[in-house]
Amino acid sequence: MKTIKGVGAMAAMGVLPMSNLACQSQGRKLGVALVGMGSYSTYQLAPALQDTQHCYLAGVVTGTPAKEKEWADKYGIPSANIYNYENFDAIADNKDIDVVYVVLPNAMHAEFCIRAAKAGKHVICEKPMAISVKECDDIINACNEAGVKLGVGYRLQSEPYTNEIKRIVREKPFGEVRYVSAEAGYRSRSNPDQWRLDKALAGGGALLNMGVYAIQGAIYGTGQNPISVSAQEFSTDPEYFKDTDESISAQFKFPNGATGNIFTSHSANVNRHYSAFDNGWLELNPANNYGPLSGRLSTGEEIKFPHESQQKLQMDDFALHVLENAPNKAPGEMGKRDMIICEAIYQSIAEGGRTIDLDLGRMGIVD
Ligand code: NAD
Repeated sequence: MKTIKGVGAMAAMGVLPMSNLACQSQGRKLGVALVGMGSYSTYQLAPALQDTQHCYLAGVVTGTPAKEKEWADKYGIPSANIYNYENFDAIADNKDIDVVYVVLPNAMHAEFCIRAAKAGKHVICEKPMAISVKECDDIINACNEAGVKLGVGYRLQSEPYTNEIKRIVREKPFGEVRYVSAEAGYRSRSNPDQWRLDKALAGGGALLNMGVYAIQGAIYGTGQNPISVSAQEFSTDPEYFKDTDESISAQFKFPNGATGNIFTSHSANVNRHYSAFDNGWLELNPANNYGPLSGRLSTGEEIKFPHESQQKLQMDDFALHVLENAPNKAPGEMGKRDMIICEAIYQSIAEGGRTIDLDLGRMGIVD
């Protein structure tokens, strides 16, 4: 356990909620409650929480009664730490739970993040943060009003390949960045009834699901937010994609004159990042799955780091943000910024590819 001096001082000044004082005790890990026991919680987050150093799986919130016993047995979760969607607000009185991690369909993020904040719990919200900029604002405001911390489930922000791209862009060993290309998508045809194809629950299609990774890549691959975007949508299977976007291309302009292309899809398996500089380039391929990732430079060198669970790194980073005021690698403003860009992309498509200006400044950029 690292020093807690700074955080203790902040709590004494009333910057942190009283419930937070309890989690500053030496050697204590933060208790995390997962909300929504679907595939991401089951196969990624819960296993990662067995290896985290600064937090652990303390509770679950599920709408499916059969899952209560299953999760209690598998992870030794006491019945007092198991909630359903109706009695969830009583989590306010549970001292074992410090962080609520919302892993529900996108349209449910705002409601559960706001309820978690009102219960005095720190919040991690899965990506995309919500289904509108307004909902992102509502989540951010609820967390600010409750004095709790907010992180978005952008696992790549905590893993070393992404941070190496940021370092190269920042330190400019190849000179100024001039172009970025970022692609994120997969082929989906297995289940036409899944919530990801239902606009009411998903908020959008490929763009809100995988496109946010491509948007993120374009931003950390240039170190800048775009100043304009124009976009096109492609449909090859309108029968399967009745309600949501299938594939989208978008072109960005950046403040230093660089340009970018992103592509996202529910029809093509794409997973790549490329940044071109004055005197060289970098590439990750794959760039945005759970890893191991793989990268190379124009010099012929490999970008190589030992593989670790991205979710473990992400949740430990957030726990250190809560415990020690370490930097928030994926703050709410980052999720909101990406939603502003998504809305601009949909607007551009609706207006025949018109260029939409963006005025984001450095919003959500974490070096
Ligand atoms: P999933 O379909 O596997 O699980 C969804 C969960 O929500 C299930 O437990 C389901 O019972 C519950 N649920 C509650 N109300 C529902 C409703 N009305 N319709 C459907 N399900 C309902 O989904 P998932 O893959 O676990 O995704 C959950 C969230 O996590 C999404 O926001 C997704 O974008 C995000 N996610 C992030 C990553 C990442 O790499 N960061 C990866 C996968 C999913």
